[in-house]
Amino acid sequence: MSFTRKLLAWYKRNARVLPWRKTRNPYAVLVSEFMLQQTQVSRVLEFYPRFLKRFPTFGSLARSQPKAVMEAWDGLGYYARARNLHRLAREVTRLHDGTLPDKPEDLRTLPGVGRYTAGAVACFAYEKPVATVDTNVRRVLERAFGSKDVWELAERLVPKKGERAWRFNQALMELGALVCTARKPKCPECPVRSDCRAVRSGIQIRNRQPGHPR
Ligand code: SF4
Repeated sequence: MSFTRKLLAWYKRNARVLPWRKTRNPYAVLVSEFMLQQTQVSRVLEFYPRFLKRFPTFGSLARSQPKAVMEAWDGLGYYARARNLHRLAREVTRLHDGTLPDKPEDLRTLPGVGRYTAGAVACFAYEKPVATVDTNVRRVLERAFGSKDVWELAERLVPKKGERAWRFNQALMELGALVCTARKPKCPECPVRSDCRAVRSGIQIRNRQPGHPR
């Protein structure tokens, strides 16, 4: 069985139920991606529903005062994200008729959106078959394939069909979050261990510092 098929079979059985995985609403997906930069899932789960309830659309966020946005973000930290999200909502409303672009190259022109977030939103909201590499994905690909250019590898691996690409990217992230963790990866229970270069060659697995690319 191929790496992708093993990964997807594992994901089907083990994926956590997370609210941003149940939606394809571009605004809701974007908010989750901004919150997940630098912040643990458990913490985001506390803030995410409240924030969406208070600001349910790009328009409602764009019309809000900066103070109100900061209040809703208070406790999540890294406040530049909230300022960028607010600016982004205003730009989307003013320049794009309230519709978030769906191409990574257009998404990257927006405030606070880097290569990772552009790929994540294009794939998770619009099911575009594009790669996205966060810290978890980078760690899995470096260990499993011994790859230095993980973006190039992720672009080669990502399935060409959008819905499968969505599951593939979610699954890579989930494997990095639950099994191929920075410290003490759970290799004996890993679905791709028979393909894993780090395991095959007995390479000592080095820790990566936590962090999240934009
Ligand atoms: S076998 Fe271990 S190192 Fe390799 S991908 Fe799985 S958890 Fe990571």
